[in-house]
Amino acid sequence: PLVLGIETSCDETGVGIVRGHTLLADAVASSVDEHARFGGVVPEVASRAHLEAMVPTIERACETAGVRLDDVDAIAVTSGPGLAGALLVGVAAAKALALGLGKPIYGVNHLAAHVAVDQLEHGPLPEPCLAMLVSGGHSSLLEVDDVTVGVEPLGATIDDAAGEAFDKVARLLGLPFPGGPHIDRAATSGSSVYVDFPRGLTSRKDLERHRFDFSFSGLKTAVARWVEARERAGEPVPVADVAASFQEAVCDVLVRKALDAATTRGIEDILIGGGVAANSRLRAMATERAADLGIRVRVPRPGLCTDNGAMVAALGAELVARGRTPSALDLPADSSQPITTVVA
Ligand code: ATP
Ligand code: MG
Ligand code: FE
Repeated sequence: PLVLGIETSCDETGVGIVRGHTLLADAVASSVDEHARFGGVVPEVASRAHLEAMVPTIERACETAGVRLDDVDAIAVTSGPGLAGALLVGVAAAKALALGLGKPIYGVNHLAAHVAVDQLEHGPLPEPCLAMLVSGGHSSLLEVDDVTVGVEPLGATIDDAAGEAFDKVARLLGLPFPGGPHIDRAATSGSSVYVDFPRGLTSRKDLERHRFDFSFSGLKTAVARWVEARERAGEPVPVADVAASFQEAVCDVLVRKALDAATTRGIEDILIGGGVAANSRLRAMATERAADLGIRVRVPRPGLCTDNGAMVAALGAELVARGRTPSALDLPADSSQPITTVVA
């Protein structure tokens, strides 16, 4: 099926077009620069930017794919979770297209779309698989038996998301927003064992209650204290070393828990998605440590890890292919759509 997918849950206006597992277009307009001076995404600014970018981004995607809107078999759109006002823009646009073209609409879960996108790069999803979604708003371990039916949450962050930690630590180190890619780059010339930062929720006691959960706010505080102590002593902060040591702590916990979850559940495939999956150390560490256990790791290329429309189209195509019931034309945007609801 030829499916057009729309994503507006945060600060990226994404429109993707796929035919089955083949990616035809992935047009993304980001308002990230407009948020940079605030150090985080400002919901009102994001909604307005989506409104301005929506129609041109749809046109650009159709042009790149070489298809006309009439050719599309179904429309998929992120219905949640995400920023309410931002989601509303995408859902309204998708409804207009579905109504105007007389085609079915699928309001899909943003997290399930982050999982489904991998099939555009590596072919049919391994099911069951253990999905680790790590982004600015989420850090979750999920068991996926059928991505079109539902996913079972095994654990999640109890405070900051992994990407949020990257962004906050980058700010402490004077690096621009969003900080993930800057820390990644700075870390390449630093020492990952320079500072032994804490690994959240890994003590024996924490593991009893939070075996598959994450906590990154203590790590962020530890980095802040370390940097402050250096500054108070009038000594320069070794940015590359702190970035590398911080990144090592985040990746170590993520990989350890993902492998523990996969092993416990008897799952042989791990799929990593979300913006933090673009991190070079995370990709290398996960692949290396998983290989020792006979577990395969799949991570889409960085451009497909951050928010985009192709991931929504990919999940939409899978829903059509597996004969799932579309959403009603009056489907709501649901800012807190649970991960167990794949189609709204
Ligand atoms: P949501 O959480 O709803 O999916 P989001 O905008 O945070 O929304 P993404 O676009 O998937 O989602 O991820 C953005 C996050 O990924 C930011 O926190 C950013 O710092 C982080 N990120 C991007 N590239 C890297 C990288 N190379 N290393 C670490 N973090 C990265
Ligand atoms: Mg984003
Ligand atoms: Fe996302």
